[in-house]
Amino acid sequence: MEFLKKIEEKWQKNWEKARIFEIDPDPSKPKCFITVAYPYPNSPQHIGHGRTYTMADVHARYMRMRGYNTLLPMAFHYTGTPVLAMAKRLADNDKGLISDFVNVYKIPEQKLKELTEPITMARYFHQEIKCGMKEIGFSIDWRREFTTTDPHYNRFIEWQFQKLRQNGYITQGSHPVGWCPKDGNPVGMHDTVGDVEPEIGEFTLIKFTKDNTVFPAATLRPETVFGVTNIWLNPDTKYVKATVNGEQWIISQEAVEKLINQNRKVKVQQTFQGKELIGKHVKNPATGKTIPILPADFVDPKNATGVVMSVPGHAPYDYVALENIKKQPSKLKQYGITVQDVNSVQPISLIEVKGYSEIPAGDAIKKMNIHEQSDPKLEDATKEVYRHEFHNGKMKPCTGKYAGMSVAEAKDRVKQDLISEGRATVMYELLNRPVLCRCKTECIVKIVKDQWFIDYRKPEWKALAHKNLDMMEILPEEVRQEFNNVIDWLHEKACARKSGMGTRLPWDKDWIIESLSDSTIYMAYYTIVKHVKQHKIQPAQLTDEALDYIFLGSGKPEEISGKIGLDAKILKQMRDEFTYFYPLDSRHSGRELIPNHLTFMIFNHTAIFPEKHWPRQIATNGHVMMEGSKMSKSFGNIIPLREAITKFGADPVRLSVLSTAELLQDSDFSPTIAKSMRDRLEKLYRFASKLAKTSRKKIPKAPFTAIDRWMLSRLNQHIKNATEAMDKLAVRKAVHTVLYELDQDFQWYQRRTATRKESPKRKAAIAQVFNEVLDAQIKMLAPVAPHVCEEVWEMLGGEDFIAQSPWPTHDKSKVDIRAEENEAFIMNVLDDTLNIMKATGTKPKKICYYVAAPWKWKTYMKALENSASAKVLQKDLMKQLMQEPDLRAKAEKVAKFTGQIVEEINRTSEEAKQRQTQIGLVSESEALKEAKSFFQKELNAEIHVYNEEDPKRHDPKQRAQLAKPYRPAIFIE
Ligand SMILES: [Zn+2]
Repeated sequence: MEFLKKIEEKWQKNWEKARIFEIDPDPSKPKCFITVAYPYPNSPQHIGHGRTYTMADVHARYMRMRGYNTLLPMAFHYTGTPVLAMAKRLADNDKGLISDFVNVYKIPEQKLKELTEPITMARYFHQEIKCGMKEIGFSIDWRREFTTTDPHYNRFIEWQFQKLRQNGYITQGSHPVGWCPKDGNPVGMHDTVGDVEPEIGEFTLIKFTKDNTVFPAATLRPETVFGVTNIWLNPDTKYVKATVNGEQWIISQEAVEKLINQNRKVKVQQTFQGKELIGKHVKNPATGKTIPILPADFVDPKNATGVVMSVPGHAPYDYVALENIKKQPSKLKQYGITVQDVNSVQPISLIEVKGYSEIPAGDAIKKMNIHEQSDPKLEDATKEVYRHEFHNGKMKPCTGKYAGMSVAEAKDRVKQDLISEGRATVMYELLNRPVLCRCKTECIVKIVKDQWFIDYRKPEWKALAHKNLDMMEILPEEVRQEFNNVIDWLHEKACARKSGMGTRLPWDKDWIIESLSDSTIYMAYYTIVKHVKQHKIQPAQLTDEALDYIFLGSGKPEEISGKIGLDAKILKQMRDEFTYFYPLDSRHSGRELIPNHLTFMIFNHTAIFPEKHWPRQIATNGHVMMEGSKMSKSFGNIIPLREAITKFGADPVRLSVLSTAELLQDSDFSPTIAKSMRDRLEKLYRFASKLAKTSRKKIPKAPFTAIDRWMLSRLNQHIKNATEAMDKLAVRKAVHTVLYELDQDFQWYQRRTATRKESPKRKAAIAQVFNEVLDAQIKMLAPVAPHVCEEVWEMLGGEDFIAQSPWPTHDKSKVDIRAEENEAFIMNVLDDTLNIMKATGTKPKKICYYVAAPWKWKTYMKALENSASAKVLQKDLMKQLMQEPDLRAKAEKVAKFTGQIVEEINRTSEEAKQRQTQIGLVSESEALKEAKSFFQKELNAEIHVYNEEDPKRHDPKQRAQLAKPYRPAIFIE
């Protein structure tokens, strides 16, 4: 461990001293600009955070080696609720949080008090995270670091919002938003526990009535009002009688606050238990029928109004609840309801749908074997029935003027009609409730007056976003559809709130821009922040006009220069730097940011920048699991990133989080994997240091033999595979190729060439191959394990940094299929021999190989040729072969031999057949004679090689005649 630690510190210091990751524009080179979502500094990072950032760093290091002038910057997201809420929890003495900070992250207890101040917390964890990023070896240009509360950044965000507003993308109005009643703020995904996006649904409240009292039943399926058989109330929870906008309503107690937040005037008059209304009757506003109020446990008073209409024909919950109460006469009795009363309540069929009976809800219940209202399968049953009815259902005659309509159409029509007749209204509710705010309060829906929105609903903007997506590379490609869907369903997004840290809306300073809106185009800011710092530019100098010039090229720098008191040359430099690095070449983030951040980034770029500056690639990745289970506080299996680096080493951690899964899959971290990675790296290091002792530079040129050509051919295949994998960021595959497949071949090569009696020429050739392989191997490993690879590179006499050396290129001329076929032959012969030895249990003194006679080869090649077009039949093959006089002379032998090979050839893969055809005759005896000393060493026996028809051969058991092409006969004694 000490050994890795030393190497890591050494190279981190060297990189910093040589400033090799401080990247400036260089017109002589192609550029590559890679960014990764900046972190909220509200806690130290754990190993799960390591994955996305390591992936971005590996990508940047790879692109640099491919010859790109590659910039990877980093900043810190202070704004928004994540920091705020964490500081608040700490201030509120949250025991769980304190225990995590102290016990898991080892933060000194006396420090915690200071961290209750949000800005202090942000600064503290900012430094903590930055240290971790340095310790793991990220190749970041730290000159460009900033935080989102820097006044210069605020200017940039103000400019962005002015642009959005000028272009018509900002609206103000009353829209429903997810809301924390405790904080008095809108909530988005980054404000909730578990990062859940609050999903707002519009319920129809259908006004069932009893005299002048309204029972507003909340439903997502207003078209089923014709099938309502009863109303459900929960007998054991509290309801209120209240005036709501002048009407008398019965609603759950919890609904009061929600309705007030949706701009209704509510005055509570009376509170009582739900059971007091059970057994009473109400009128269905659509049919005029009188129906009973019945008790049901499944009614959740926290969901909408707590009043539910029952449609047992088409709603599985209602069906089960009705069946249940029919079996509980005693319970009914206390409400004065008789069993006969309830039995007269029968499901009504109002939708016709193929594949179902009159009562689809009943079908689904029976199919899924559901008996209880609490059965979680009810959710699936509900969805299934709804899906079929929505897509294939038709309204039945009992629905009056809606008869014959599709369910999809009737749903909207019934709702609109009821509302316009004053018999229904709407209410918003969270569909995925409960959603908890980071302050642990349950979120609700609020209609905020004069709320500012970014209007992602605009069709012309959606079209631009689609256009950008279509020209972008998405890695992995599978998630492209997800982006398409998000672009289509995104609607107005509340973009500002009344409290917290952040940039104020430039035209309405009461509002502060929230954190998913102030993080959409900031990659552009990285290109200029270096100059801002270097020339001590004041925020006030970054006027809208100056920023228009820098980012959009409008206006004249000479004129702007005078107005803001900044040298025109500096303005031009900033413009040049922006146009050099833009567009963004790759954006990295976790997959969970597709529905918000990543799609917002696309939208905002298209709103502000010309097409040539739109982003070019997005790479998303999955999570990190811990030994097969989800990482979470409750499992106690969180490993802080810095602790993991100290424990296992930076390179092993990098390898572990990236090489156990491809992009989208969850990767699985475990101490065992990290340790095995460390062992592999140490082995590589030891091997290289042995090699380094034989001076590398003075190796004379020497001719290569078949085995050398084989190794170089294999190497070039691996280079090709690893490069193709890295181009798609399939790092798992690349590491597997470089660290395992190449290594396996290299070990074989070492076994094949490890004889002491090699000539100086052979020794030189072997040394040359060793160097070439090792060079390529450490270069291909360098992006993922940069520290160890720099050390090995230096040890082997490499110049400069491996981080700056070129990625190995695939040299087609070194691919030698004949050498590969030849070596595959040697491997097979060795395997066959070992198998015979194992089967017979003999330790041989002498091994004889008999290679197939020329006529067998001729026959074999002919069969191979025939097999290219179709299955070979022995009969046809023989007919052909008998045209040849030399084969006709030994017709009997040929017939016997073809009998042996026809089946085999038909079973051979197309690829192998093609290869064999291309290579033609293989000189097996030559290959075996070349490998003789190798066989002698491996098998510890005398080796003899004969042609099967050699009259002088030693062949006491008549084995020679069994020889086949690629399969010499073997005799052991
Ligand atoms: Zn809250």
